[in-house]
This record gives sequence, structure tokens and C-alpha cells, in this order.
Amino acid sequence: MFNYVRKEPYGVVGAITPWNSPLMLTAWKLAPALAAGNTVIQKPSEETTVSALRFAELVYQRTDLPAGAYNVVPGYGEEAGAALTAHADVDKLTFTGSSAVGREVAANAGENLAAVSLELGGKSPTIVFPDANLDNAVNGVMKGIFAATGQTCLAGSRVLVHEDVREEFIDRLTDRAGEISLGDPLEPDTEMGPVAFRNQWEKVREYVDIGTQEGATLAFGGEQPGDLPGECFIQPTVLVDVESGMQVAQEEIFGPVASVMGFADESEALELANDVDYGLAAGVWTENTRRAQRLAEGIEAGTVWINEYRMVAPQSPFGGFKDSGLGRENGPEGLEEYCQTKSIWIDQTGEVGDPFALDTG
Ligand code: NAD
Repeated sequence: MFNYVRKEPYGVVGAITPWNSPLMLTAWKLAPALAAGNTVIQKPSEETTVSALRFAELVYQRTDLPAGAYNVVPGYGEEAGAALTAHADVDKLTFTGSSAVGREVAANAGENLAAVSLELGGKSPTIVFPDANLDNAVNGVMKGIFAATGQTCLAGSRVLVHEDVREEFIDRLTDRAGEISLGDPLEPDTEMGPVAFRNQWEKVREYVDIGTQEGATLAFGGEQPGDLPGECFIQPTVLVDVESGMQVAQEEIFGPVASVMGFADESEALELANDVDYGLAAGVWTENTRRAQRLAEGIEAGTVWINEYRMVAPQSPFGGFKDSGLGRENGPEGLEEYCQTKSIWIDQTGEVGDPFALDTG
């Protein structure tokens, strides 16, 4: 027998994207879906509809993509999004957004037996050991939680610091947080912009109150700075004395709020890192390579950075363990998500075989 395998497209891909990083996350779905030979119907977030529409316009102006291969259907999640995920002619669903909506998308995919991949939320740990280069660790933790005003799925919002360096680390982190230049995100000197909309601001503010009511201490931030226009600015915020069971340690805030916890040794660090329903990413700061590798293996997350944070690349698979998702984007795995596999057998003998034998080739 001659056997070969074909990778074939599913057909119609329904792609639902969130409001943060809207163009990059569109590209992560659109490029492999089209490369695999599918057509795409994208439902962008109602908060960022215009960028998706403009992107589609440019795609058709500047490429020879056949008409209808890429479509954008704007609308609210419960209407346009739900209709797309429930449509029987959609063969594959790819969703990036919150875990709550991801569950609904997966249920609809189940109804239609459509393939589904989900990129969901996170509550990612960043872990600092006493042997780390502390300048680098403070920098990396800041990058994890304050870049993009904390509005990223991979935000390093659970900050775990070894007791030996905890005080010094918190001092350095709060000092650096105080130096962050807030302002108009279109200005080159701005380091942190506002959160995206007022509801988001209120959610972040509420979590700061929840944290202090739960017993955490506000070491820095938590307020709207008085000297900036608009109503969506919030200071970079550091909560300390956080316990793992608190809401601010378990729930995705999606804002610039670091929840800092202490640990005594490596096994406690690993236990705390995994003591959460999410599993998107993690950062480890240590100069001990063996320890770094042990943690990289033990941490339940789709991405682990050692002495670094927030690196992504089209070549490297990205996605979640546990409630952070199903499937991967980017890398060869990201392309596979948009292909189904067909196995083809060709008889080479021309002989009439035994009709009752299961031929194992
Ligand atoms: P969201 O879940 O509220 O919305 C995401 C998208 O789903 C939007 O387009 C929305 O209109 C749509 N939607 C809402 N209800 C729907 C429904 N019932 N059926 C179908 N579609 C529906 O998320 P958001 O607030 O736009 O984005 C923030 C969330 O996305 C965070 O949880 C963040 O962690 C997550 N996220 C994950 C990744 C990742 O790669 N893992 C990347 C970015 C954002």
C-alpha cells in the first residue's frame, strides 16, 4: 500500500477577537487560517471595530485575496458573536477573549460539532528568587503588569517574591511604579496610557477596594491621577500582603494591578504559581539554570519565560493550560489548528484481497 497524508482546510472559519491588541490578534488568526486554505468571517470586539474594518479594507486594496475570503461582521458579542458561533455552516471557531465567553463559544461549537480553539484569560505568576538580578527582575515584573496598562491576557498579575528579597523588591517596584510617565498613548514619551474605557476603569478600581477589604495593603497607586485629562487613567498599582485565596490573587483584573505574595522556598513558589484556575504564562527570575528548568517543567502554563517576560513571536506556539484555553496560536501548531488531516491509501498490488482481514499495512 502507498499511504499519504493531506492537510486540508476546514472551510469557513469563524474568528472572534477581543478589544486588546486587536490587530495583532487578528493577524494571529487570519494568516494561518488563510494559509491553510480556509475563508474567514471575523467578528471584532465592539470596542475596536474600526481597526478591523480598516484592516480588511487595506487587505483588499493591497493584495489579490479573492473577494469573500476575509469578511468582517461587526456587532455586539451576544448578537453577532453568538450568531456566528451558533451557525451550522461554520466549520471551525477560533476565539480570543474572556474564559466566561469562551465557555459559551465552546458550548455552541459542541452543538454543531465544529472544531474550536480558545485563547482565554490569565492570572500569570512572576516569580522572583533571591539569586536573581534584581534590576532585571523589577524591570521584568513591571513589563509584565504595567505594559499596555495591564490590559493583556498574559499580564503577570500574581507577583511571587522570596522572603529574603521581598522588602527590597517591593521598595524598588513601588519606586519604579511612581516614576512611570502616564499620558496620551500617542505621545512617544508616554509609558502607560489610560485603560480602554470607563467600565474597565471602574472594574480595576473595584478590585483595588476588594483587595484592601480582603486584607491586602495598598503599597502604591490605586487612584485616578488628578493632573491628566479624561476619566480612564489609573495609577500603576501595587497590592502587597496578598494571600493566594484572595479574589485579587485569583481573578483576572485586566488592569495595572500587581498582587504581591511572599514565598519561603522553591516548592512553595511552585505551589503558589499553580494555585489558580488559569494557566497562560509565567515568568521566573533566577540565575540558577537548574532551578529555572525545574520550574519551567512544573508550572502549569502554556508559556514560561526565564529572566524575561512578554516575548511572543510568530514562530513560537502560544496558548493556555487549564482555563486559559484550548489549542495554540503561532508556530507549526498554530497552522495545524486550521487544517484537518486526511489519510489516503492506494493499493499497489492490484490483487483481490481477503474481505475479512483487517489489513494493517
Ligand atoms: P470578551 O470575552 O468580553 O469578548 C471577546 C469577544 O467575544 C468580543 O468580540 C465580544 O464581542 C465577543 N463576545 C461577547 N459575548 C459573546 C457571546 N455570547 N458569543 C460570542 N461572542 C461573544 O473579552 P474582551 O473583554 O473583549 O477581552 C479581554 C479578555 O480577552 C481577557 O479575559 C483577556 O485575558 C482575553 N484575551 C486573551 C488572549 C489570549 O491570547 N489568551 C489575548 C487577548 C485577550
